[in-house]
Amino acid sequence: MADDIILETNGLTKEFAGFFAVRDVNLRVRRGHIHALIGPNGAGKTTCFNLLTKFLRPSAGQILYNGQDITAMAPADVARLGLVRSFQISAVFPHLTALENVRVALQRQHGSSFDFWRSKSVLDTYNHRARELLDDVGLSEFADTPAVEMAYGRKRALEIATTLALDPEMMLLDEPMAGMGHEDIDKIATLIKRISAKYTILMVEHNLSVVANLSDVITVLTRGQVLAEGNYADLTQDQRVKEAYLGA
Ligand code: ADP
Repeated sequence: MADDIILETNGLTKEFAGFFAVRDVNLRVRRGHIHALIGPNGAGKTTCFNLLTKFLRPSAGQILYNGQDITAMAPADVARLGLVRSFQISAVFPHLTALENVRVALQRQHGSSFDFWRSKSVLDTYNHRARELLDDVGLSEFADTPAVEMAYGRKRALEIATTLALDPEMMLLDEPMAGMGHEDIDKIATLIKRISAKYTILMVEHNLSVVANLSDVITVLTRGQVLAEGNYADLTQDQRVKEAYLGA
C-alpha cells in the first residue's frame, strides 16, 4: 500500500440473504484528504460506513488501515488505532455544558477514573484541552452552555469536538449535515474544512452539491457498487452520475 493511502478496501462486500448491499468496493482514501462517499438512497452508503466502522462484518473483502488488516478487528480496537467514527448527537449529554461534555469524552479516552475530579491540576489539564477542542470547532463562547440549549448545528459541532477528544488520525462522519438548513450546512462545511488540516476525513452524504466544495475526492455509489470517482467538476460532467441522481 502506498504511504499516502490511509484507508483501503479491497473487494468489500456485504450480502444480506442473497441481496448485495455493498459489492466489490475498492476504496482508496488518501492521508489528509476529505473524501466523500455519496449516492442515492439505498446505494449502500450506510452499510459501507458500518463496515468501515466495524459495526458490520463484511461477507467478503478486506479493510486496511495504515497498511494493517483491520477486517476482523473490534470497533474499540480500531478506534485505538486512530480511526474514529463521529458519535451521534444522542451521545451528547444534554444537561452537561459543552465544556463538560468534551471533558467527559477526554476522561473516557484517557481511562481515568472519576477520581480525577479530586485533583486540581489534572482537572485544569482536562479543562485546558477541552477548551482547545471547543476552539477547534468554533464553540469557545458556548463552553458554559448546556448542550440542550444549543442550536442543532452547534450540537453537531459539539459532537465533533467529543470525537476529536478521542485523538483520532482519521474521522468517519455519517451524514454530518443531515437535517440542517443552509446556514448550518455552511457552518459545518467550514468546520470540516478546518479540522481537515489535522485529520483525514471520510464522510457519507447523500447530497452531491453539499460535498461539492468540501471534498478532495468523491466516490459515487449506486446499487452497492462504485459508479464513479473524482472531484465535483469531473462528476458533474459524468453522464452516469447524472442519471443515477435523476433516477433516484
Ligand atoms: P444508503 O445508506 O445508501 O441509503 P443502505 O446501506 O442503508 O443505503 O442500504 C443499501 C441496501 O441494503 C438497501 O436496499 C437496504 O434495504 C439494504 N439493507 C441495508 N441493511 C440491510 C439489512 N440489515 N438487511 C437487509 N437489507 C439491508
